Amino acid sequence: MIYWDYAAAAPPYEEVVRTVEQLMQLHYANPSSLHRAGADAAALIRRAREVCASALGVRAEEITFTSGATESNNLAIKGAALQYSGRGKHIVTTELEHPSVYESCLQLREMGWEVDFVKPKPDGGIDPYDIAAAVRKDTVLVSVMHVNNETGSVQPLRDIARAVKEANSRTLFHVDGVQGFGKLPGGPRDFGADLYSLSPHKIRGPRGVGLLYVREGVRLFPLISGGSHENGMRAGTENLPAIVAGAKAVRLASERQRELAGRLLPLRDRLLSFLRGIPELVVNSSEAGAPHIVHFSYPGMKGEVLARQLEQLGMLVSTRSACSSRTAEPSRVLLAMGRDEAAALGGIRISLGDSHTESDVAALETAIVEAVQALKIAEGGMR
Ligand code: PMP
Repeated sequence: MIYWDYAAAAPPYEEVVRTVEQLMQLHYANPSSLHRAGADAAALIRRAREVCASALGVRAEEITFTSGATESNNLAIKGAALQYSGRGKHIVTTELEHPSVYESCLQLREMGWEVDFVKPKPDGGIDPYDIAAAVRKDTVLVSVMHVNNETGSVQPLRDIARAVKEANSRTLFHVDGVQGFGKLPGGPRDFGADLYSLSPHKIRGPRGVGLLYVREGVRLFPLISGGSHENGMRAGTENLPAIVAGAKAVRLASERQRELAGRLLPLRDRLLSFLRGIPELVVNSSEAGAPHIVHFSYPGMKGEVLARQLEQLGMLVSTRSACSSRTAEPSRVLLAMGRDEAAALGGIRISLGDSHTESDVAALETAIVEAVQALKIAEGGMR
């Protein structure tokens, strides 16, 4: 079996697994306890915060630990909307966002906020002018992802940030950085983000921890209330093993970004040109996208059917993002990019990671040809 689903979950580093195990055994004390064991645990969290801050090029006080990027996105959006409702009740986001952003915005809409969803161009790019045109005097927040989790399209964040601030200097800019961090250069300051979400389990860290960068001076209404943990923005006893091991993954991802991208780009480009050569397929990613995601559709064929065929040939791929894979609906992202319903139902996402080699890609190509042939024959037989 070859695993092609790094964008859903990347296998953790050995070091990450060891760290989680050791910390569970040795540092079980509550970091809020005043005794020595508690102080040691608190010191480990302080250190983890510094490690993350330095990898992101920000200050330690600007890092909030959450349970995952789903929570980071919820906190960024609903926390900002609730905290700054006095400034207005309008939010701008895009049709491309991950469900944790999209659904948070829909929930706010039900609660009385107005939300504008900006449409992408057919290549999956968001035009900064479209964002600027949507921002109003009462716009509290704009949320745009760095890299789309289905197609790998990359957004011009710096230009978008500039457009937002020119249209309204008080509007906050949130970036879902989950699929971009460790694959492309840059951190929240480079992008002009006030809020920036990250997920360690996408970069070979553990599950159960997420990060949210909150620029100094910005406050968020806590969605989870209780103790004064995380600068009063997120209550709950800290998940120390995941935080410390997650910080290691964040550091490694930032140190290895260039090298990883350099290795993945030729593999991705090879796959893209190979897929373009198969007449039955529509390729939804491009060389302008992130180095680790290749997405294509077999219009008329359900993505699940092709994915199952590929699995029988030893290839584990995704139909779209893991968080939307259980719906039978066509992909909202592909429809927004102007694909028809047949293409939006037949998507396959291949996501690359450090373990992949040229020979793995060659094996995948052979499997794709075989799977498409087998399905064509089966389809012909049914007619
Ligand atoms: N945003 C994007 C772009 C993602 O790909 C994901 C993971 N599916 C998330 C947010 C949510 O991250 P998590 O799994 O840590 O909740």
